[in-house]
Amino acid sequence: MIKVVIVGAGQAGALCALNLRRHGFEGEIVLIGDEKHYPYERPPLSKAALLGAGVVPVYVGSKSKFESQTIQLKLNLCALSVSRNEKTIELSNGSQEHYDYLILATGSRPRPFSIQGGELPGIHTLRTLDDANELKRSLDGGGGVLIVGGGWIGLEVAASARSKGLQVTVVEAGSKLCSRALPSELSDYLCAVHQSKGVEIELDTTVSTIDGQDRVEVAALSSGRRIPVSTVVVGIGAIPNAEIALQSGLIVENGIVIDEYCRTSDASIFAVGDVACQFNAFARRPLRLESWENAQLQAMKVAKTILGMADTAANIPWFWSDQYDLSIQMLGLPGEFDSTVSRGSIQASEFSRIYLKDGKITYVCTVNRPKELAMIKKLMLKGITIEPDKLASVKSISELAA
Ligand SMILES: Cc1cc2nc3c(=O)[nH]c(=O)nc-3n(C[C@H](O)[C@H](O)[C@H](O)COP(=O)(O)OP(=O)(O)OC[C@H]3O[C@@H](n4cnc5c(N)ncnc54)[C@H](O)[C@@H]3O)c2cc1C
Repeated sequence: MIKVVIVGAGQAGALCALNLRRHGFEGEIVLIGDEKHYPYERPPLSKAALLGAGVVPVYVGSKSKFESQTIQLKLNLCALSVSRNEKTIELSNGSQEHYDYLILATGSRPRPFSIQGGELPGIHTLRTLDDANELKRSLDGGGGVLIVGGGWIGLEVAASARSKGLQVTVVEAGSKLCSRALPSELSDYLCAVHQSKGVEIELDTTVSTIDGQDRVEVAALSSGRRIPVSTVVVGIGAIPNAEIALQSGLIVENGIVIDEYCRTSDASIFAVGDVACQFNAFARRPLRLESWENAQLQAMKVAKTILGMADTAANIPWFWSDQYDLSIQMLGLPGEFDSTVSRGSIQASEFSRIYLKDGKITYVCTVNRPKELAMIKKLMLKGITIEPDKLASVKSISELAA
């Protein structure tokens, strides 16, 4: 009987297991995770979870689901190393697990924050359910909140904390918020939204030290400003958990390098999700995507590959973020463009901003316009060439997608 071992019981790992069964895999499946929780989704952790009465996990699958699918879920267990010659992995309880196929779905972890005072209680990162519970407790205690890093997680926490009535300051080392994912003008829009809600945004600024007796009390900024804080949230990026892949000799370059079938440099080992770096046909370069959709799609792809039903359909990177009453969605990647089109109203926070190069849409950001984003996706997938004026003037994008 063929045995698939999956390391990492997060979104991608759990979905690999469930998709294998869904598509008819009859062999043995072992899913190993170092957290104590059943596999859950992370996006709510920086959004709704911080606002309600308690953090309610959104599970990828229930206990009974894994049992009924005869997926052996081994939690609280860490995979320490891979022996590729023997096709075994060594586990933290001293045991070994043999595999025919191994899937590495180990995700990523928050980039460490190394400054004086960076270890004080009251300083949080946000990756896991336990992190969210701790952060929520800290926010519920009141006091000033400092967000280090003006990326998505930081801004979502800023919005949640502000919605709880807390005083919030965001410190960003660069000159723009979310600069990797947003063109400059949209970054400015988002900055203005937060400022209008009462969040203080300090750009081109870093945190020099954090001081306090038993926990955080004051943060000193590179501008010389000192702000009283009760909670510090560090969101300065994530590092792929690729160590066991690297130690086993797999190719690792900004994550575990995989081909279009999610195969690593060893044909019996796959990698998926945040830890994997894959050539993206739309972007025409290797990308390590840290997104919910990427975890979904790659998990599906691996299951199909193992079952000999491989599909190599290229996807257009898609990401969403919820902040205040804004549902922000981005499709494609910001980069070169020669024309832009606006639809809707920025003032009313209900708009699409579309970027084109040689008549083809390369990137779109919608705010509170989910249906339009879906229609624009169709245009992008078809690679249709469009007159910007027409794109701006049609009543519905569906007229162009037909
Ligand atoms: C707070 C937060 C908010 C987010 N919001 C959004 C959003 O709005 N939109 C969006 O598109 N994406 C969002 N994301 C990103 C999305 O959640 C991730 O891209 C997705 O979770 C990746 O899934 P994964 O399975 O690759 O990694 P993970 O879900 O991180 O799972 C990896 C698992 O492997 C475990 N593991 C690691 N090493 C080992 C080992 N050696 N042995 C055993 N287990 C191991 C880890 O502990 C973890 O449980 C968010 C992420 C976070 C943290």
